[in-house]
Amino acid sequence: MTAPHSTLRTHALALDDADPLKSIRQEFFRPKRADGSEAAYFCGHSLGLEPRRAVTYVNEELEEWQRLAVEGHFSGRRPWLSYHERLAPPLARLTGALPLEVVAMNSLTVNLHLLLVSFYRPAGTRRKLLIERPAFPSDRYAAVSQILSHGLDPADALLELGPRDGEESIREEDILALLDREGASIATVLLPGVQYLTGQRFDMETITRAAHAKGCVVGFDLAHAIGNVPLSLHDWSVDFAVWCSYKYLNGGPGAIGGAFVHERHSRNAALPRFAGWWGHDKETRFRMGPDFVALPGAEGWQLSNPPILAMAPLVASLEIFDAAGEARRVAKAARLTGYLDFLLRERLGEKLDILTPAARGSQVSFRVRAPSDVLRTLHATLHDRGFYTDLREPDVLRAAPVPLYNSYLEVWEFVAGLESILAS
Ligand SMILES: *Cc1c(COP(=O)(O)O)cnc(C)c1O
Repeated sequence: MTAPHSTLRTHALALDDADPLKSIRQEFFRPKRADGSEAAYFCGHSLGLEPRRAVTYVNEELEEWQRLAVEGHFSGRRPWLSYHERLAPPLARLTGALPLEVVAMNSLTVNLHLLLVSFYRPAGTRRKLLIERPAFPSDRYAAVSQILSHGLDPADALLELGPRDGEESIREEDILALLDREGASIATVLLPGVQYLTGQRFDMETITRAAHAKGCVVGFDLAHAIGNVPLSLHDWSVDFAVWCSYKYLNGGPGAIGGAFVHERHSRNAALPRFAGWWGHDKETRFRMGPDFVALPGAEGWQLSNPPILAMAPLVASLEIFDAAGEARRVAKAARLTGYLDFLLRERLGEKLDILTPAARGSQVSFRVRAPSDVLRTLHATLHDRGFYTDLREPDVLRAAPVPLYNSYLEVWEFVAGLESILAS
């Protein structure tokens, strides 16, 4: 369907010319080089760029606070009482969920804890919590502390599955074999949608089906998956999921996170949960009664009234996602990341090892065959030349070409820059 790539600069220009998303790029601010030109920003896996309209939306809320004060909860352009509800439809589109199944709240690790309280219920011989190795530290801390909170020993209850010796990705066959062998002892499976370090994308549907067949509960950490790869959480029958919004969702530093709870759990009052007044039935919330009545759906896991100023940039960003359209975004993501992968192999194949497998999103991670001080210098030199990448100690560079705001020419220039630095 798509023509093979070439290493010529003119090829990058032709790809940009044919890119249906090229004008969406103007929706974002980007850092500048010393000469005033726009830097090539490949850190969208870490902190997405600021949507221009975020400034307007945040300012509007600051202005309404001035003008309306407490009345802003009920009047104004976007009343605060129901502000979070406007995020549910676009988040549902991005996650393949019903609006009832998603909520913007808290931050990622907080949401992980809240949902593990409900969905990690070790009992009898089914006590284990399965995570990947190496997991993002916060996820592992959360998993271990949840196990401890049940009075269990992590040495017994934490099950970690990593790549085989000498390999970078976790083989799907190893996940399925583990579930087959030990599934009866696993209470909850908690895996990433896209692994933060290698950029490996997991087959969430297949994993969910296999884990459910063994009676396990299944949750995903979508920190690197949401806004990046296509998701169908409802149809895949995933039990729960959590994410942050500052990576591919461009929600801003420390942006409000999100959570998914499958519809089949939406009215289950028997599920234990940590409760707060914002999770309480909207009809009776302000009667201030002593007894908690959960809202149906993911909203029922909310604790506090949400931070409006932190949600405004996300409202802005999700409008851009809707304008771009899922099909166009996902198609460009595959083409753009494929192009980066191609150029790295063609031009620098002798000097680096790519960790990211073909099942991936918009991230390519690679090791440079050089001592770690050389790598640190390389990373700094790239930055000085206006190429933003990220260095994961000791030796992994991650670059995320993001379809909403990166161009093919930026990818070409990045690889050319890398080549010239490595040659010197
Ligand atoms: C980015 C990321 C986090 C960060 O957690 P916060 O609670 O948002 O600070 C946690 N887990 C994973 C897998 C991540 O990629």
